[in-house]
Amino acid sequence: MDLTDSPATLDFIREIVASDRKSGKHATVVTRFPPEPNGYLHIGHAKSICLNFGIAAQFGGRCHLRYDDTNPTKEEQEYIESIERDVRWLGFDWGTHLYFASDYFERMYVWGEKLIEKGRAYVCDCSAEEVRQRRGTLTEPGRACEHRDRPAAQSLDLFRRMRAGEFPDGARTLRARIDMGSGNINMRDPVIYRILHAPHPHAGAAWCIYPMYDYAHPLEDAIEGITHSICTLEFEDHRPFYDWVIDECELPEPHPRQIEFARLNLTYTVMSKRKLLQLVQEGVVSGWDDPRMPTISGLRRRGFTPEAIRDFADRIGVAKRDSVVDVQLLEHCLREDLNRRAPRKFAVLRPLKLVIENYPEGQVEEFEVSNNPEDPAAGTRSVPFSRVLWIEHDDFRETPPPKYFRLSPGNEVRLRSAYLVRCTGVVKDAAGHVVEVRAAYDPATRGGATPDGRKVKATMHWLSADHAVPAEVRLYDRLLTKPDAGDVEEGQDWKSNINPDSLEVLDNCWVEASLAGAASEERFQFERLGYFCVDPDSAAGKLVFNRTVTLRDAWAKIEQKQG
Ligand code: ATP
Ligand code: MG
Repeated sequence: MDLTDSPATLDFIREIVASDRKSGKHATVVTRFPPEPNGYLHIGHAKSICLNFGIAAQFGGRCHLRYDDTNPTKEEQEYIESIERDVRWLGFDWGTHLYFASDYFERMYVWGEKLIEKGRAYVCDCSAEEVRQRRGTLTEPGRACEHRDRPAAQSLDLFRRMRAGEFPDGARTLRARIDMGSGNINMRDPVIYRILHAPHPHAGAAWCIYPMYDYAHPLEDAIEGITHSICTLEFEDHRPFYDWVIDECELPEPHPRQIEFARLNLTYTVMSKRKLLQLVQEGVVSGWDDPRMPTISGLRRRGFTPEAIRDFADRIGVAKRDSVVDVQLLEHCLREDLNRRAPRKFAVLRPLKLVIENYPEGQVEEFEVSNNPEDPAAGTRSVPFSRVLWIEHDDFRETPPPKYFRLSPGNEVRLRSAYLVRCTGVVKDAAGHVVEVRAAYDPATRGGATPDGRKVKATMHWLSADHAVPAEVRLYDRLLTKPDAGDVEEGQDWKSNINPDSLEVLDNCWVEASLAGAASEERFQFERLGYFCVDPDSAAGKLVFNRTVTLRDAWAKIEQKQG
């Protein structure tokens, strides 16, 4: 099927692209993902990456990765490297099309001179504050300053001297000369160049004037032959200026077309790089890749798969209206993927000793356990069983509450794939805490079978204490306590919603010996507990796991209810 020809499957952006292809407006569809290297990419960027690279792939075109690096004081090499790593990890490839806006600075400057010569730009001596005061409001027009009408030759001379470094930061700007009375504030002679004596992470010390984003971006797109420049809704009011720049700089047809879509917002999640940087700088999290962060590197460390993130991006689609997506949908996409693929393992997070009194000391049996019931090709593994086991603390109650079917004095349960055991007693410490549970096994129930048809209501996982390997497990909760980060008491800022208990470290856990060689980022389902992945902090002798997500899928329930 030619996807480009079936409008029923197309969102509004793909419809535009498909119709431009049909009309022959462009030979090749060219999109771009244009991050500013001033932070790590987050799940919102993933939406934009999937959209831009996805459209290019679908229509047989290409997508550029371009650094929008016009603001040198906030940009860093570390961010540049993280962006490339993250886009690749998500599964996309820009081929040879990696660009830096700063590589176009010379051409942007020449266009600046050209605009001055055409009477379309002027050097303004007003301070930032004066520019602001004269800009007007939504209901009042702006007021021109005396510099607006200075001769082009004078502006040209001043612009050249700005570049030569004759003036201090903020002393002058170059402004587009459009219309101080425009109903659109963005058209009231916006600043297009500012003086900033600061070195640039990519361009070095070559410049002390820098182009403003709104001037630079359309030029970057036009230089690269971008056909569809996809951005978020807040740029809708900037589109007339985008078009103005390309027209006035007399760039060849066809011009790139700016198309806006609604940015991704997620419940319980802050998405702005500025706020994420605050979390990092103030030590609320351990870094940009802390598994609680909504950054791509944080999600990766948490155990998310690129497939789940791409599936999520597909499901949310693109729209023209802002909305907030339930973070449980993202987790649902992840569970679906991991359920299919993650090998099952036994792990005990809060261990309690279980001694099988009638099992011979020193005896070891191996039981075959399925690696993934969802995937027959995944096969089985053997898990050793012996007299002393670890079980979950929570799987035993000395005084069971109603409907508690797991282990309690006198009660019988199944140890998964091994035997049925009946609790015979407990051992307590001086303080009266249960430190050991005693039980007897029924040799006739080998493999967990019940030849006499008797029923037990609970099946529990277990580990042989002599064979298990130690591990640290990090449990994560939401970083925010409220679905809307901005929902705060008067006088408080968004950080008052940070959940103080978003990380719990369990450093006395046990896992199957088969996990001993697991590599960083490998993902597993710990039976009955959730999905977990190996953290890069793992070292020889101490495995560290992150809980990726629990097994309970709230989203699936919501979907069911909605029928
Ligand atoms: P933030 O507001 O989080 O700081 P930004 O827009 O300043 O992000 P950029 O590096 O400029 O970050 O973004 C690169 C691209 O990603 C832009 O095209 C932008 O529109 C897109 N993008 C950023 N945030 C989102 C989001 N939440 N949803 C969808 N696209 C986004
Ligand atoms: Mg931006």
